[in-house]
Amino acid sequence: MDKEPDVLDAVISNPDTFGARKLRIPFTTEEYWDCECEEDYIRSRFDRKCPKCGARHEDQPDSRVVEVLSAGLTMNNLECIVI
Ligand SMILES: [Zn+2]
Repeated sequence: MDKEPDVLDAVISNPDTFGARKLRIPFTTEEYWDCECEEDYIRSRFDRKCPKCGARHEDQPDSRVVEVLSAGLTMNNLECIVI
């Protein structure tokens, strides 16, 4: 498998400020991690272990930012770089 990119380029449109901006968004976030459940596999970094599948945080990868956002979860420290 190809190595995943570290960052994700995205264009967001914010009409209240400067119009469309191109942003560089980190590809993964340390605030969440993926457990091995089929559904609802995004776990908070404060969860050391998934109560359902038993996956442990230290053994599992960081969650992808796009998946965290599309699950409706929030991030405290999402740093976007305007490019
Ligand atoms: Zn799980």
